[in-house]
Amino acid sequence: MKLYTVKKNGAELVAAAGGDGKVYLAGSLGIEAGDVNDLIRHWDAYEAPLRQGLKEGRGEEIRLADPMGTKDAEDYRILAPIPVPCQDVICLGVNYHDHIKETVNVLDFTKKKDAVYFSKRVNRSNDPGGRIPLYDFVDSLDYEVELGVILKKDAFQVKAEQVKDYILGYTVINDVSARNVQMKHQQWYLGKSLDGYLPMGPCIVTADEIPDAGKLEISCYVNGEKRQSSNTAYMITTVEEAIAELSQGMTLKAGTVIATGTPGGVAMGMQPPVWLKKGDRVRCEIEKIGVLENIIG
Ligand code: MG
Repeated sequence: MKLYTVKKNGAELVAAAGGDGKVYLAGSLGIEAGDVNDLIRHWDAYEAPLRQGLKEGRGEEIRLADPMGTKDAEDYRILAPIPVPCQDVICLGVNYHDHIKETVNVLDFTKKKDAVYFSKRVNRSNDPGGRIPLYDFVDSLDYEVELGVILKKDAFQVKAEQVKDYILGYTVINDVSARNVQMKHQQWYLGKSLDGYLPMGPCIVTADEIPDAGKLEISCYVNGEKRQSSNTAYMITTVEEAIAELSQGMTLKAGTVIATGTPGGVAMGMQPPVWLKKGDRVRCEIEKIGVLENIIG
């Protein structure tokens, strides 16, 4: 199943698609969730009727607008699947070997033994097709395609082999980073938390459709030029290991979003770096999930 948040006439609504690809408003399938966070919090109660409704196709089918194209009056605009994450997004840093290698002149993580975790504030996620602001104090804007993981129930002291039971699904994230701000303040928080710096989407694909999140092609293009191309198999700390470790002494609430790190190919690793500039189109893709494209400026 694919879960969307869509917008029409000012209303933000949850929508879902089943195996036939037809998209229905969740409300028309009898799901009374106010928003996607509400849906996730009550997933145990909503999942079965949602799946049944999709199977029967008895709801209100809608048409989604192409995020990068023109929108007909009847179309629904695709928003980030979780427009307002319930908490800061938890991020894994330097979680692919080729990314460690390419950034060694800036930050040397070649001897790291343990996972690097940091947090990214997201007042509001950026939408597919949305503009990523280029603030005047940012002189080195970068992209990072990442697999996003969303939890469907509170996780505390979960063992790696149980993690599967806690994952709602996956999405595409661009961990947009203002490198000069990130480096200036030593901690990465501010440079990664500026408004508009978490594009997410186009949907959440539920975990049953992705039995192995550690085997997905992942790539990023800038103006059509391939910059990042890898596979989630190359993650150093796996999704299961990360959630087991994070939840050892911290409850990860239902709706938590985890960004699992980016492979090599970011602008910071280029010689010389080719930073994002106004008008650039950044396209992030993950196999079985979809495409997330945004414009700078
Ligand atoms: Mg990142």
